[in-house]
Amino acid sequence: MNVEQKLSIDKFVVDEGNPHIILHLEKLDEETRKALTVVCPAGLYTLDENGTMAFEVAGCLECGTCRVATAHLPGALEWNHPRASFGVDFRYG
Ligand code: SF4
Repeated sequence: MNVEQKLSIDKFVVDEGNPHIILHLEKLDEETRKALTVVCPAGLYTLDENGTMAFEVAGCLECGTCRVATAHLPGALEWNHPRASFGVDFRYG
């Protein structure tokens, strides 16, 4: 079983209209944008051919890696745990 297959087992309950991660793109430098596309294990940060970043909070594994990757840019990313009953439900097997 590969990583994508394992991730597809997990269940996500998205808190529509109340994302637990808010990204302030204008505060991100180019290097950090590129880093986010690499470090997020769920691949939720993407850059198109023009360098425009997109982020999708649905599918977040709540690992906090993006929080660490943007720690040097205060205010670039707001990260909170999802409200109770929302977020990822890890499933094994
Ligand atoms: S918390 Fe982890 S999975 Fe979620 S967006 Fe950040 S790096 Fe990706």
